Amino acid sequence: MNPTVAFRQPAHLILHEAAHHIRIQKDDMMCCMGGQHCKHWAKTLFGMYKKLNVPLPFGTQFETFAEIAGIPLCTFIGAVRGD
Ligand SMILES: [Zn+2]
Ligand SMILES: [Zn+2]
Repeated sequence: MNPTVAFRQPAHLILHEAAHHIRIQKDDMMCCMGGQHCKHWAKTLFGMYKKLNVPLPFGTQFETFAEIAGIPLCTFIGAVRGD
């Protein structure tokens, strides 16, 4: 695999969105915060990284995910953006 191409693939973004979809399917609704980044979403996302063996991002702008994944909370765009 070409590392440059892999770097450009928004794997984190895909997992982020997938976690939203899983929450919606599981709860048959938009989870506890109306599809926002609640702890359930963060837990689901963290589980996906583990399950798919994807390295965690260096930081996240989402507080719930930072807490659950144990990674730094970053607010600058250079960090992996979730949205
Ligand atoms: Zn929730
Ligand atoms: Zn989101």
